[in-house]
Amino acid sequence: MWKWWRNRQRKLRSQKPLPHFLPRLIERPDLSTWLTDAARVKLINHARNMVAEKNWEGLSGLVVTEEMKWKIALQASRLTLGFDDSPFDSIQSILIYPSTYVAPQQTWLGHIVVESSSLRLGEAWKRGPIVLSWEDIQREWEGQEPLHNVVIHEFSHVLDMANGDADGMPVIENPALARNWISLVPQQFAQFVQRLHSGHSDIINSYGATNLAEFFAVSTEAFFSSPKLFNMWHPELAQLYRQYYGDTCYSTSWPLHPQHPRSSPLLLSSRRDLNHDWAHVG
Ligand SMILES: [Zn+2]
Repeated sequence: MWKWWRNRQRKLRSQKPLPHFLPRLIERPDLSTWLTDAARVKLINHARNMVAEKNWEGLSGLVVTEEMKWKIALQASRLTLGFDDSPFDSIQSILIYPSTYVAPQQTWLGHIVVESSSLRLGEAWKRGPIVLSWEDIQREWEGQEPLHNVVIHEFSHVLDMANGDADGMPVIENPALARNWISLVPQQFAQFVQRLHSGHSDIINSYGATNLAEFFAVSTEAFFSSPKLFNMWHPELAQLYRQYYGDTCYSTSWPLHPQHPRSSPLLLSSRRDLNHDWAHVG
């Protein structure tokens, strides 16, 4: 009954005018030319439902505007294009701090709990809210952090936790894809950790070495933020993520589309040390 009512509300909502600022927001190639027309409509509908259905709350005095909600919802909805139903329907609230924030933290050392605090960009809770730092969202939106995206990071944790604990293994309906995931992702993670321990850099942020859950979240950030570069560094992982996130949603202008011109070898020489610590937990 609830699903019937929700779908009816969504249908009615889809016939209402879109906000005047939306054309400006979707000017970005990742939201416009990279997507097929059908996928762009799906993206906007998913984002519109997220804006309307979630409880949006500004913390520490932040006033959350409609445009801020849409910026977050559009990015999060990029993760859901390959799915018929939005995996983010279970999220009730999205809480936004003005900038990075200090959160209490508990660490177990044997039977002893150590109370401390940590600086955070965002966090995702199982069956709980998403928490985000607006200053970082805005900086990433403006392209100042080309490989990072805190919105995609935290919402990818939600995909991961949909079938239990955060372990880097989301729900995958296709059995062949699930088998590939199980054999490839832990292997890629081990190679990544080994590469960092050997003193080499990687396009995936070193925070991904924390565990498989963070590897999934951080590599998903890089996959969506810089697909061409990600494919050059991690072609097997790029192929897997392409299938999981729905490669049929993308037009020939998408850097990972099979018909897109191959990456220039010149770009391979532009690798630089991309590793730097960033405050993040969650
Ligand atoms: Zn994380």
